[in-house]
Amino acid sequence: MTENQVIQETELKQKDLMNKFIHVIENHELSHSYLFNGEEGVGKLSLALFITMRMFCKNVTDDSMPCGKCDECRRIATQQHPDVVIIKPEGLSIKVDQIRYLKSEFSKSGLEGNKKFFIIQDAEKMTTGAANSLLKFIEEPGANIVSFLLTTNRNLILPTIISRTQVVDLESLSEDTFNKELEKVGVAPSQFKLLGKLTNRISTVKEWQEEDWIKNSTSVVGHWFDYLTKRDGDAFVIIQSNLMPLMTDNNKKQSLINMLLSIFEDVLNAKYIGNDDFCFPKQAANIKLLASQLSESQLVQIIETILNCNSKMAVNVSFQNILEATTLRILKILE
Ligand SMILES: [Zn+2]
Repeated sequence: MTENQVIQETELKQKDLMNKFIHVIENHELSHSYLFNGEEGVGKLSLALFITMRMFCKNVTDDSMPCGKCDECRRIATQQHPDVVIIKPEGLSIKVDQIRYLKSEFSKSGLEGNKKFFIIQDAEKMTTGAANSLLKFIEEPGANIVSFLLTTNRNLILPTIISRTQVVDLESLSEDTFNKELEKVGVAPSQFKLLGKLTNRISTVKEWQEEDWIKNSTSVVGHWFDYLTKRDGDAFVIIQSNLMPLMTDNNKKQSLINMLLSIFEDVLNAKYIGNDDFCFPKQAANIKLLASQLSESQLVQIIETILNCNSKMAVNVSFQNILEATTLRILKILE
């Protein structure tokens, strides 16, 4: 990230916490260790970098923001500051050697009394050895060290660590903010509603966009639904030919199930709420048609059938089999 991106992202995603921390810093009340807990993409890293910039900045602005221009701000944002170290998993975990490295860097760097900040990303991935090693480190008396542990799941952090940190929960992005982020990565507004149901990670959306996955998969699901509306067996046929080639990882499979659910939730909406704010706006005509044809019990059965896919996935039934069986079952319910 650049220094301006850090400031902008923090302001956009976590303005309340940003202001709170500015206040804390002005009152010299910054704690020695924080645990930032929140979903992927809510701005944990940018908030930690922002606070660090605010502490090191040589030209704090009149409204108490880091300037975003000085050498300190720049080196922190670009992760090149000698007194600011960021640790992230190497492979699947954060290993004890990485924490030892952090300790040795901090013990040899700088003059006595220099403040030192470190940030641990995906802190839940610390091995027990790493966590124990860290524990001694954050407890070291008199050290001028501030640490930020970032996690998407505080339940996976050792209680001994939690008890020595101040836990800060970062709220999910508001719908507005998330949509703005979607727009930035080129998602069409007509797909905002659906994507909001599939993921809260902008990084995932970015990957999908690069492969054109959203466009392709929503198009096939749309066709699948159109065939179902016509009670046409091609709904079964396109699973192997058109849908399976798009199912290249588990996350996509899970998202596909959620797409199938979303389109039938659209039918429910059309039937009971009567708005046309659909996840699949291109299918609006058929959504309304099915809404008028199906009874409540038929709709409930269909949704239950789709929900069942999750438990079948959990026991490793082949995904193609799951989708085909589900489609046959829905065709039967529609008869
Ligand atoms: Zn600065």
